Amino acid sequence: ASQRVMNFSPGPAKLPEEVLERAQKELTNYSDTGISVMEMSHRSSDFSQIMNRTESNLREIMKIPDNYKVLFLQGGGTGQMAAVPLNLIKLKSSGCADYIITGSWSAKAADEAEKYGTVNHVYPNTKVYTGVQCVSTWKLNPDASYVYYCANETVHGVEFDFVPETNGVPLVCDMSSNFMSIPVDFTKYGMVFAGAQKNIGCAGVTVVIVREDLIGQAMKECPSVLDYKAQSRASSLLNTPPCYSIYIMGLIFEWVKASGGTEAMAEKSRVKSEAIYDVIDKSNGFYVCPVAEHCRSRMNIPFRVGNAEGEDLLEKQFLEGATQRGMISLKGHRSVGGIRVSLYNAVSVQDTMHLAEYMQEFMALHQ
Ligand code: PMP
Repeated sequence: ASQRVMNFSPGPAKLPEEVLERAQKELTNYSDTGISVMEMSHRSSDFSQIMNRTESNLREIMKIPDNYKVLFLQGGGTGQMAAVPLNLIKLKSSGCADYIITGSWSAKAADEAEKYGTVNHVYPNTKVYTGVQCVSTWKLNPDASYVYYCANETVHGVEFDFVPETNGVPLVCDMSSNFMSIPVDFTKYGMVFAGAQKNIGCAGVTVVIVREDLIGQAMKECPSVLDYKAQSRASSLLNTPPCYSIYIMGLIFEWVKASGGTEAMAEKSRVKSEAIYDVIDKSNGFYVCPVAEHCRSRMNIPFRVGNAEGEDLLEKQFLEGATQRGMISLKGHRSVGGIRVSLYNAVSVQDTMHLAEYMQEFMALHQ
């Protein structure tokens, strides 16, 4: 473990050492079966136990009500951007859905949905993603089949600090990058999805949580593997599931439970993100985060270093210095540049404090 670096990757992201070590211990001989989880039939009783335990821990941690189905699917968050309209856009005869665009991921989801129905943008997309536009300007369509938003925009660092009110229209949410970092009231949602590779595991599995009454009205063109009804009837075993990714996700759920659940994750996220925002806010403009204060993400913090001139050079130096100190994956997304700090559940307070100290030191040297 001493050779491990401080990993601030936006995803796939850091996993807790305890989880990796347990997976290592169980790698070649899972629970005295004499085989690896990777070598096990997805219809075996050992794997059924893994599936059942993973689902029940998820339900317990996130307090998911009984009238919601939990599915473990493939195709990632991007797959769900298609699955959502394929399954839900015909819930009403309008064939129309409302999209709240706050960054590149919700914009992508709206583009994908255009293939299957009519998309209404609740406000014009300015393509400047620095916050959530004031609710009083939103034009929600009461006939929409659903309202879609992304709880945390991973690239732009915009996180909702409230749940949109839709007046009875089912609310659909992409929680890929802040899932299990805060308690959620599922009764406010029709459907939620989250790819695992940020807060809850490795790539390959996507959690889908969908209210039962919304299942069963998929378009006839919907591929069976993305069809919530077909998958829920088959208990997510319509075809071979991503067995190993599900197993790793199950280990993460046990780790979250042992670490105090979503309340503890929320508190830890608050402490970590405040430490970084604090350095930014007290830097007299040396570090600049463009996101409006009320919707600054606790998970992904994008910022620029220095004043406009020489910014690129300073950022390069910042990243090099970070690497020398064993802090990696801090480069901003190629579409926005700059620096991005990702602080998912597995990132420790200690690593975050090291980074905050480094930011202070770098500023003192270059201001
Ligand atoms: N939604 C969000 C918020 C994301 O951050 C990502 C991945 N970075 C996706 C969707 C797409 O996920 P995937 O790569 O698993 O398709």
